[in-house]
Amino acid sequence: MSRSLKIAALAWALPVAALAADVEAVKTTVTASIDARRPELVALSDRIWEYAETALRETRSAAALADFAEARGMSVVRGVAEMPTAFVASYGTGRPIVAILGEYDALPGISQKAQPSLEPLTPGAAGHGCGHNLFGAASLGAALAIQEQIAAGALEGTVRFYGTPAEEAVGGKLYMLRAGLFDDVDVVLAWHPSDEIVADTGSSQAMVDFVAEFEGRAAHAAYDPWNGRSAADAAEVFTFALNLAREHVRPTTRMHYVVTGAGEVPNVVPDHASVWTWLRDSSHERVDELLARARDMVAGAALATGTRGTLRVQSGDWEMLPLLSGARLLHENLTRLGPLAFDEEEQEFARQIQRATGVEPVGLAGEIQPLDLEPGEPEGGSTDVADVSWKAPTLHLSVTTAPAGAPWHAWPVVASGGMSIGHKGLAYAAKALATTAVDLYLDPARLAEIRAEFEERTAGAQYRAYIPEGPPPVPAGD
Ligand SMILES: [Zn+2]
Repeated sequence: MSRSLKIAALAWALPVAALAADVEAVKTTVTASIDARRPELVALSDRIWEYAETALRETRSAAALADFAEARGMSVVRGVAEMPTAFVASYGTGRPIVAILGEYDALPGISQKAQPSLEPLTPGAAGHGCGHNLFGAASLGAALAIQEQIAAGALEGTVRFYGTPAEEAVGGKLYMLRAGLFDDVDVVLAWHPSDEIVADTGSSQAMVDFVAEFEGRAAHAAYDPWNGRSAADAAEVFTFALNLAREHVRPTTRMHYVVTGAGEVPNVVPDHASVWTWLRDSSHERVDELLARARDMVAGAALATGTRGTLRVQSGDWEMLPLLSGARLLHENLTRLGPLAFDEEEQEFARQIQRATGVEPVGLAGEIQPLDLEPGEPEGGSTDVADVSWKAPTLHLSVTTAPAGAPWHAWPVVASGGMSIGHKGLAYAAKALATTAVDLYLDPARLAEIRAEFEERTAGAQYRAYIPEGPPPVPAGD
């Protein structure tokens, strides 16, 4: 080492050490703040768990979160991107701008009590089978812990909480992206309830959501059937073609549909039929290929049956763009927090659910999974967080809120998300997000590293949302 290099190394040593001490002090303060506010955050999550409102109907859930943020000093803009249940809460000025995402929509038909055996809270009602009650409350808890530190002068910049509706259907974030709400964001933080704790390095599936519609000609099914052309027949040909295609797609492809209309009574030749279809694969390019094939199938089905066929794309998601630099930072903060401890009562609650659903009764996974440096093809499932990840660097985390291996989008997740297992995951996720945010505010080098990886990965990519032109499909008031 030359003399000049030695001096340079010494000159670096002091600020780096000072920075580390500073960072650690602020992290200790934000985790203490989350602990202090934990009862309020748990109560907020439990309220949203009880409301269990579905996509674009999350009126009380969105208001509960927005009111909570506003009452604690954040400025809130409600009804953004033409969605009454979308909002942005913010605090501070200037850069960096750190956006923390929250969701709060439930799933229809899976109402469940917070107990380890199947029993609806309200028969037929919706339930939080994806843990979004925890997602919203934890992310807001993290944003408020950062807000306090900006107010105290310990951090400089802006923190925002994005209240993003309708993740389970429609994709609220796609409309918020189109409205330009993420244009100036430096970095996005998000987490998702899960059955393990991990800084995510894997992607998610890209998908397209469309309706294949067929118009035929009605006639008496016995008196003059030759005058009729059955739209139900066309729907059958379309789904038959789709099912035959399963042999000729990649193993990563997922195709699922429901027939949402195919006539009313057998003695009238159906003049209308519709098939609601989702196609998924590991990238949007592959999904585009599948979509082109589906268009041919619709045209072929119409031709074969003498009907008219149309394919109407409703929504879809790109695949997640994971950043290794971001996952490393999250992983460091998870390691700093240590594993999540569940007590024997919680472990037994989980094992009862596992026995009831026929999966191995191994309880809850509170340990931190190692960083997966070679994640391979994404697991099944898509999210509109992925679309955000193409607009701004997005750091994504999974935190245990449900028993290992138990069915997702189902009653076990609703049950665990309404009691202490979910509450522990909530507080843990809030701390992981807030401490990671502290690094982003105080260590410009880490932020620059993440931004550089993002720029490199997105070079040449032209993000294009799958949603059609026009306003989001907000349902009319009930
Ligand atoms: Zn979800």
